[in-house]
Amino acid sequence: MIPIIFFIFFLFVTVSFFIHKKISFRLERIDSMTRLPNRRSLQKFINARTTPLNLPIAVVLIDIDNFSWVNEKYGYESGNTLIAEFSQRLVFSAPGHSLAARIEGNRFALAIPGTYSRQEIYSMLSDQFLSLQNPFHICGEPVHLTYSAGVALAPDDGADSHTLLLHAERALDHIKKHGKNDIALYHASFHQEDLERQLAMSFRSALEQGEFHLSYQPKFNVHTGFIDSAEALIRWKSPLHGAVSPAVFIPIAEKNGFIFDLTKWTLNEACRQMKHWEQIEHPIKRVAVNISAPLFLSDRLPKMISEFLHYYQLDARCLELEITETAIMSRFEAAFDIIADLKKAGIAISLDDFGTGVSSLTYLKKLPIDTLKIDKSFIDGVHDSFEDKALVEMIIQLAKLFKLSVVAEGVEKQEQMNVLKKLGCDFIQGYLISRPECPDTLEARYMEKKYGS
Ligand code: C2E
Ligand code: MG
Ligand code: MG
Repeated sequence: MIPIIFFIFFLFVTVSFFIHKKISFRLERIDSMTRLPNRRSLQKFINARTTPLNLPIAVVLIDIDNFSWVNEKYGYESGNTLIAEFSQRLVFSAPGHSLAARIEGNRFALAIPGTYSRQEIYSMLSDQFLSLQNPFHICGEPVHLTYSAGVALAPDDGADSHTLLLHAERALDHIKKHGKNDIALYHASFHQEDLERQLAMSFRSALEQGEFHLSYQPKFNVHTGFIDSAEALIRWKSPLHGAVSPAVFIPIAEKNGFIFDLTKWTLNEACRQMKHWEQIEHPIKRVAVNISAPLFLSDRLPKMISEFLHYYQLDARCLELEITETAIMSRFEAAFDIIADLKKAGIAISLDDFGTGVSSLTYLKKLPIDTLKIDKSFIDGVHDSFEDKALVEMIIQLAKLFKLSVVAEGVEKQEQMNVLKKLGCDFIQGYLISRPECPDTLEARYMEKKYGS
């Protein structure tokens, strides 16, 4: 009798174990809300075709456009019902041999084995999406949805599930940024967007890890024959991305809301450096900081600057701001008020890259700025192009008329400097005088020359 009880108990334990294993195995691979395969199953399905056999497959990511509106208007429960119903429609409309999966939230995927040209997959998906366009009904109301999709094709766009899903996601993000309700096939140019995203994600830690530093490019005062000011230019040495040019990362910082923190760091660092130079009686008496348009036009800048000047006990004359024409012209009235405020506080303002923007003379006349910086593109030909020389001469005359000083930027040749001096340019900046350098190099250089030019 006892052996039979033991046997039954053993049988029970074994069967429960296997049932439990089977259930947890299913849970690991099935999305509980829609009963569709999940991301893991999808990856397995793709890898089974790509990794060992290199078979062609189309990977499609599908996103329900503006799904949050459904949740906001009808509540999460209705949103969930809609997702469940959508998943059934997706399975029903998908090609027979494909796998439909739910990735997360309102994001789904199709893996369609087979060789498809870009044209073929586009028309096939367009037809399929037409059948998904019928309205859903929530609380008796018809709800019309649209869909965005990103596609990556193996082997061209990737040879494993990770790369294919990543590239399909890039294509999906692209279409979501460019109007939604359409299908995008992955293209190598999306890499640029990829890089942007990676840089944007690295900013915060880069600032915390001290990956930014400032270089200083001297400005030569033609009237005194000395270098008496410098422009602070930000540098980013990233262990992940290498040396990244400010021409690349500043626009990304502007777009991603990071420019405020970055400029705050720059202003603090430039003021700290200026204080040090003041204490060692260095000939550089003023530092210019470049200010991006979005920050310049916000009203946070004057307060930030006055706090730093106060903190470092610096005279406002030690600081100059370089802003571009476009920053001012995009919102002239606001820019005018901000410049007036900064001027009242004693801070000098330069109009950077002058000549490349759209300044009208009337605006220029009204603006209480101090300096025009003639863009390098005009300086390049000032010594050997009649037109460039005439243009630079005109800008210098104009500046004199409005009582502004003039800086020529990007001066690389002695011949250029000679012409600029003759035309009455006040300051020369460029590789001929000095490349942007770290403060130590500049200090050593001036010590050697006993603080001369
Ligand atoms: P920018 O303010 O017009 O700065 C001049 C740029 O020309 C600098 O490039 C400088 O290194 C370069 N340059 C100077 N002299 C010469 C020359 O003789 N020949 C050549 N070929 N180039 C010369 P950089 O440092 O790469 O900066 C590019 C732009 O990035 C700057 O143009 C400025 O718009 C922006 N930027 C740099 N630092 C900052 C910053 O701290 N904040 C903001 N908002 N923008 C910055
Ligand atoms: Mg500048
Ligand atoms: Mg410039």
